[in-house]
Amino acid sequence: MLLFTPGPTPVPEAVRQAMATPTIHHRTPEFEAIFAQAREKMMDMFKMDECIFLASSGTGAMQACMVNLCHKKVLSVNSGKFGERFGKIADALNLPKVELKYDWNTPVNIDDVKKALDENSDIDAICIQICESAGGLRHPVEEVAAWAKSINKDIMVIADGITAVGVEPIDVTNIDALITGSQKAFMLPPGLAMIGLSNAAVVKIGSGRDYYFNLATELKNQQKNTTAWTATTTLIAGLNAIFDEIEKSGGSEKLYKDTAKRAKATIAALKALGLEIYPSSPALSMSTVIDDDAENIRKILKNSYDVNMAGGQDHLKGKIFRINQMGLIPVYESAWVVNAVELALDNLGRRTFDGTANKVFNEVYYKG
Ligand SMILES: *Cc1c(COP(=O)(O)O)cnc(C)c1O
Repeated sequence: MLLFTPGPTPVPEAVRQAMATPTIHHRTPEFEAIFAQAREKMMDMFKMDECIFLASSGTGAMQACMVNLCHKKVLSVNSGKFGERFGKIADALNLPKVELKYDWNTPVNIDDVKKALDENSDIDAICIQICESAGGLRHPVEEVAAWAKSINKDIMVIADGITAVGVEPIDVTNIDALITGSQKAFMLPPGLAMIGLSNAAVVKIGSGRDYYFNLATELKNQQKNTTAWTATTTLIAGLNAIFDEIEKSGGSEKLYKDTAKRAKATIAALKALGLEIYPSSPALSMSTVIDDDAENIRKILKNSYDVNMAGGQDHLKGKIFRINQMGLIPVYESAWVVNAVELALDNLGRRTFDGTANKVFNEVYYKG
């Protein structure tokens, strides 16, 4: 069965092997060396001033950033489940918020950001997804971040890059906290979150807030290659193996290029089948189709063609399907997926199979 859900993503064999080695104690020079390597590689990927690892899923890092970097009022963007989550975290923290809410296929409108910042001079942090995974859309984060900084350079820009880091190169010029997690583009089991930080964010963190998620305590420890609490030793060893795999396959620049090519070829193939792409600004991390037969197509793919892809949540349940593009995906697997979608449409009597999806996919991927 091909796992084509936009998280979790398949864990490469060599990485599973690396994580099968005996557990070592976290307060040892041996683990510190493993941690130091992971920290250095992660800093290379973030291209930011600092980096923190947390033993939590991605949501823990979202909360950690809000607690430590937003002290007055947050502006949160909600175009789906994960944007909504920032708002819910704010509520749980009793943090005043201004929420910009959109349909799940619609990215944030920069004019709304400008208006919210004009009307609320006490906003000291903006929380936004780079890719909102609920509908697979890409927000214009760079534009939002640049505008926020031009109004007030002290506004912290917190970017949820859980389905963007490791997918595409991210311009971090105006980003203060860049969040990611293990189980999406990093091809690891869930349980490890990573945050890239700007120097301005480190200053604002000061002595930190919260207990478990005190980013000052973590940073102080991690600069010495240890963690405040017991580290996710196995996942950090796995992360080093992931960086080795990326290196072996040609490096991160090649990973970004291949991901973009696969995403582009997939979208072209789906459109050639007459399918409708859901988001108005599709992200590269996943390809999302809206279709009345979404659930049937998903079932046929799983039962007849060995492909497991994701559906939708809430009001989009049964209405969309999402094809993963994150990670080191062999191109022939992606070609099979669009081929299988075409076969499913034939099974449903919607269009006669003639190999269009495979043809278009390969034309765009190899010749586009
Ligand atoms: C998966 C995901 C998260 C984090 O979810 P966890 O289940 O807590 O790891 C956050 N934001 C986005 C955009 C995601 O795709």
